[in-house]
Amino acid sequence: MVEAKEIIKVYGSFRALDRVSLDVYDGEKVVIIGPSGSGKSTLLRSINRLEEIDRGSIVVDGMDLYDPKTDITKVREEVGMVFQSFNLFPHKTVLDNLTLAQIVVRKRSRHEAEEKAMALLERVGLASKAKSYPGKLSGGQQQRVAIARSLAMEPKLMLFDEPTSALDPEMIGEVLDVMKDLAKEGMTMAVVTHEMGFAREVADRVIFMDAGRIVEEGTPEHFFTQP
Ligand code: ADP
Ligand code: ADP
Repeated sequence: MVEAKEIIKVYGSFRALDRVSLDVYDGEKVVIIGPSGSGKSTLLRSINRLEEIDRGSIVVDGMDLYDPKTDITKVREEVGMVFQSFNLFPHKTVLDNLTLAQIVVRKRSRHEAEEKAMALLERVGLASKAKSYPGKLSGGQQQRVAIARSLAMEPKLMLFDEPTSALDPEMIGEVLDVMKDLAKEGMTMAVVTHEMGFAREVADRVIFMDAGRIVEEGTPEHFFTQP
């Protein structure tokens, strides 16, 4: 699903990514860990071209991100992204948050978009909040809405950038549960997180970054089992 080769990303003279290569297979769950500033977020954001890389190549589902013929809008439809800070539209209801892109980008009818939205809200346990505004929801609820909104576009790959880092501890579990369900259904996922329990339970592969490089990778057993 993702083939990233020898990526270099510089900010001024600083290498945020220093020759990083990463393949993510169809259906695979990759968890990326490492200290703050090690390049985890930059790597994730490169995969749907929220960041432009300086060298190397990235191919997502057969689409070369730096081929001028590639439609980046199509890439972003296939690659859902969930951020630390929910990024919902505050002046739109939960339902409208879920239908907007379906109608504008996917050209679905309002009826079709709303059916899809309600099914997804049901799935994340928030159907009763369809008419609420995001500001009235807890952080955990907002993040579940954000995940549902991404799923409404039927992505082939989901990127999560510290999805629970801004949440109060009691809300982390409800968001991780939604992500675990998604994993069980076979979604291809790349997740930056500090939640080691989640990594142990869900990851096929754990990647440890430091100073812009992948310094170690392996199974959760490799990372979390004492020798
Ligand atoms: P992580 O997600 O591992 O915390 P990031 O990918 O956010 O790391 O950042 C990697 C490094 O790149 C950090 O040192 C950060 O300060 C730097 N960085 C990220 N974005 C920018 C930017 N737009 N301009 C300059 N430096 C940046
Ligand atoms: P997060 O870790 O939640 O993704 P950051 O605080 O790392 O957020 O970055 C937020 C924004 O600021 C990003 O667009 C990133 O590129 C930018 N940024 C991060 N570090 C720097 C930096 N040292 N200089 C300039 N911009 C930065």
